[in-house]
Amino acid sequence: MKTKRHAGKRPTPVASLILAVALVLGISATAVADRTHLKPGFNMFSPQQDIELGKKYSSEVEHQIPMLNDPKVDNYLNQLGHRLDAHLPPGTPAYPFQYKCVNDMAINAFALPGGFIYINRGVIEAADTEAQLAGVMAHETSHVVLRHSTNQVSKAYAWQAPLSVLGGALGSGSIVGVLAQMGISSGMNMLFLKYSRTDESQADILGTQILYDTGYDPRAMAQFFEKIQAESKGNPAEFFSDHPNPDHRIERVDEEVQKLGGPPPGYKSDSPEFEQIKHYVHSLPPAPKQKAVPSKGNSESTQPAPPSGGYLNFQSSDVQLRYPDTWSNYGQGSTLAFAPQGALVDDGHGNTALAYGVIVSTFEPHNDSGSAISLGAATDQLLQNMLHSNPQMRVVRQHESMQLGGQAALSALLSNDSPKGGRESDWLVTTLRPNGLFYIVCVAPQDEYNSYKQAFQTLIDSTRFPQ
Ligand code: ZN
Repeated sequence: MKTKRHAGKRPTPVASLILAVALVLGISATAVADRTHLKPGFNMFSPQQDIELGKKYSSEVEHQIPMLNDPKVDNYLNQLGHRLDAHLPPGTPAYPFQYKCVNDMAINAFALPGGFIYINRGVIEAADTEAQLAGVMAHETSHVVLRHSTNQVSKAYAWQAPLSVLGGALGSGSIVGVLAQMGISSGMNMLFLKYSRTDESQADILGTQILYDTGYDPRAMAQFFEKIQAESKGNPAEFFSDHPNPDHRIERVDEEVQKLGGPPPGYKSDSPEFEQIKHYVHSLPPAPKQKAVPSKGNSESTQPAPPSGGYLNFQSSDVQLRYPDTWSNYGQGSTLAFAPQGALVDDGHGNTALAYGVIVSTFEPHNDSGSAISLGAATDQLLQNMLHSNPQMRVVRQHESMQLGGQAALSALLSNDSPKGGRESDWLVTTLRPNGLFYIVCVAPQDEYNSYKQAFQTLIDSTRFPQ
């Protein structure tokens, strides 16, 4: 949706200039045989905004993936992680690093901007030594320090950002507001843009330096990548789908180890704590068979997790209601949408369609009679309208009486082609308000409708109209 809408546009000269500057600043290796000095590339965001983004999306991510939530494991990861992040390059902003274990056997890990790092239990179970686990963590920490996520976003969106944003006005506004200005509605997908091979190489090099400075065997990270690649034979480890394997990965890391003067004297490879945690994690019940890491931003649509059973209040001057706490609300004029992440799907014609969630809006019926229009007549007009703009839509049931916010209402059940493919069910509820026909449409794919029914019912039952 993002790319389609802007297809054909080219970067403005301002943006081209900025991108050129970024290329120059991106990576600068010193000529002397010393460690490689790496700096974050071009970025429209401040480090503080990286933290703000990471914080916001970490809570959303944790609703979507199976967290292990085991204090013993998370404490161990944090102790190890904080030993590593105490050895970052001088001048690194104070990111609030935190490390959490994901209950997923796939060998993978990921980082959100600002220091929110997630390690799958599969990494702990696959690592031979603490240094190998530390290597994966140092690699993720390096993505944070080098600000690769927001650098990717900056490069991808610089040309469509308002001039005020490029001019530095970004510092004052809320990050979500700024993303909205840039036409990025699904902020989370944007943070999962795939890293480039250059990003990967940089994270390897900085990760190797962090391992060295912390006193670990600096070759351990590359050894681990080599090992999981060798063991995966033809079915590459998930890690490499999100962290593309750079050319000459091992050679490049070895080169950096040479620049550092070889492994540090008395370097550490393993610890009794690691062996204990590995054994403990291995003894835990098997992980649920579910893809844990959210998919990287591309056209591939994800299936959102069904509502969790918790609710949030929404209140405007026109309406108040409760909606699932794992959903977000989006407002556009007098139309509101409540939907989970991943609910907006490109319909294949460049339009964004809602595949899951609820739309709340008001329809103005035409009325030539002079007397007040009836609820039934107004609802028929709305239905005609919907059938006209959705040629595949069918009415399953209609004109069933119910109550909405203490008023007489009508309910109808419709079916339509889902933008995800297959059919969807649409539950329409209408009632008359002073400014027209107020309506709610609840949408879910037919085969998943049952998982959403309770959330739809709760939203409808909780709807009130403030006087
Ligand atoms: Zn990576």
